[in-house]
Amino acid sequence: MIDPGHNGGNADHLEEINRLVNIGNGIKPCNTTGTATADGYTEAEFNWDVATLVVASLRERGAEVILTRPDNEGWGPCITERAATGNLNQADAVISIHADGGPDDGRGFHVIHPANVAGLTDDIYEASLRLARALHTAYLATSMPVADYIGEGGLSERDDLGGLNLSDVPAVFLEAGNMRSAADVVLLTDAEFQTDIADAVVAALIAFLAG
Ligand code: ZN
Repeated sequence: MIDPGHNGGNADHLEEINRLVNIGNGIKPCNTTGTATADGYTEAEFNWDVATLVVASLRERGAEVILTRPDNEGWGPCITERAATGNLNQADAVISIHADGGPDDGRGFHVIHPANVAGLTDDIYEASLRLARALHTAYLATSMPVADYIGEGGLSERDDLGGLNLSDVPAVFLEAGNMRSAADVVLLTDAEFQTDIADAVVAALIAFLAG
């Protein structure tokens, strides 16, 4: 399952997306608007653009792929529903595609994997870590450096993300770069680099599923 984070219409549906939902160890808004570049290229659109490339490549290789939203025009779905979709479909792997809204002097990508939370993510912790490492390794082949402002060497463990907490199948988030960094934005807005991102995601899934 490929999960393009946020949605293009979220900003016009703040009441709906700000509704609080249960993420297992706390409450969070149903969804958020995400970040954007200084020029107004939204993260939701970036996520959708990259997801489209990933899905096309995976399907070309014969993979069965599901998406958590059909386009970049609507709002939501809630993080709870996104996780439920992966669970219901017994996805072999879930990759959520995001770009970060970090400090403007911070650079780079990171891969987020779930912390080991008893009764919540203990069942997917090991496999998700393996998926995160596969994605991290594949992404090192791109020209984006590892994040220098968050995580450790491009990996970050989190226990506060509903999409990971509520997943019963291996799940990670890709933060493809920092949309607030002028240097990263040069890459993130480049069509060729977006193809490199998609190639990295596909390579990671192939490596992970080959197990
Ligand atoms: Zn995001």
